[in-house]
Amino acid sequence: MADSVILVTGGTGLVGSAIKHIIDTEPAGSRFGKRAGERWVFVSSQEGDLSDPAQTKKLFEKYKPTHVIHLAALVGGLFKNMKYKLTFLRDNMLINDNVLHSAHLTQTKKVISCLSTCVFPDKVTYPLDETKIHLGLPHESNFGYAHAKRMVDVQNHAYKDQFGSNFTSAIPTNVFGPNDNFELEGSHVIPGLIHKCYLAKKNSTPFVVSGTGKPLRQFIYSYDLAKLFIWQLREYDDVEPVILSVGEDEEVSIKEVADAIVQAMDFHGEYTFDTTRADGQFRKPASNKKLLSLMGGFEFTPFDKALKDTVKWFVENYNTARTGVKA
Ligand code: NAP
Ligand code: GDP
Repeated sequence: MADSVILVTGGTGLVGSAIKHIIDTEPAGSRFGKRAGERWVFVSSQEGDLSDPAQTKKLFEKYKPTHVIHLAALVGGLFKNMKYKLTFLRDNMLINDNVLHSAHLTQTKKVISCLSTCVFPDKVTYPLDETKIHLGLPHESNFGYAHAKRMVDVQNHAYKDQFGSNFTSAIPTNVFGPNDNFELEGSHVIPGLIHKCYLAKKNSTPFVVSGTGKPLRQFIYSYDLAKLFIWQLREYDDVEPVILSVGEDEEVSIKEVADAIVQAMDFHGEYTFDTTRADGQFRKPASNKKLLSLMGGFEFTPFDKALKDTVKWFVENYNTARTGVKA
């Protein structure tokens, strides 16, 4: 019998599949490798809809997790967030409440829930850090998703104060990598633009980037993020969140992202910006000082290499990737 059962909700998505990859491939003895006595369980919505309390309870009764990395969420890029604010608020509040309460009822030892830098106030001094989550309203483009995610931090504190629970959270910046959602409209910028550039090359049509290309983002490769989650699971026991990110000096503009995709895809056709479409938040630089001081350093994969690997993965797996296009 396993000493610890680590249940990863959303285990088949971008971040969940990256954690599975690291657990399956890191050498024994590595800080991020699988340890003796551990059983890792990666679940998708097919094993239970976590917005439903009864199905969530059943999942916890089935696996009896000692630890949970809670990733499952309704996730989407800027344009999907702008369109479905209530759905993002409601679905994510239900999922988070069901997971945290089932973990509490079944005496799960530890839960790390995944937030996002969208939770931070729109008007606040930069860089963002772990103390600034509740200092003002989030950007209006994603206020449904942001408020649902903020509530997890509120719940974590309340569970700790009332019951002494070891519930905490992670705050990643924008993530990308293999197994992302590469749909054309609902996805995040990197997977969306990789798919658009792929089609532009294949069909000899223009590659059109939404917005002005000027906004800045901090991107983290999913395989790096996976290691940071594994570190947080094993080595961090405090209710306050930790920002999981590259350095605040590593912001990249959307134009630089599009340029890097054009290069990695070896695309030579017409390339334009549709400035009638929204830019969203201009920037949201986050500090990784807390993370690095606790971990004692971490080597991030350079952005260009991670992007090239992701483009290569997408091209090689086009027929099975989540593209929203039926094969
Ligand atoms: P993703 O690729 O869209 O995967 C979402 C996962 O959640 C899938 O396994 C999905 O299962 C599961 N899920 C969704 N609704 C569910 C439900 N009602 N019941 C059970 N499972 C459900 O998302 P991701 O990008 O890996 O995101 C993981 C976490 O990181 C999320 O909490 C997200 O908010 C956070 N995050 C993501 C980013 C980013 O840039 N992607 C940035 C910051 C934070 P099915 O496949 O079966 O639907
Ligand atoms: P955000 O960080 O939550 O805003 O997430 P996104 O990953 O959706 O990035 C949004 C930024 O990328 C905005 O400045 C958009 O205008 C820009 N962008 C350019 N093309 C695309 C695209 O095809 N999809 C998305 N989601 N954003 C795009």
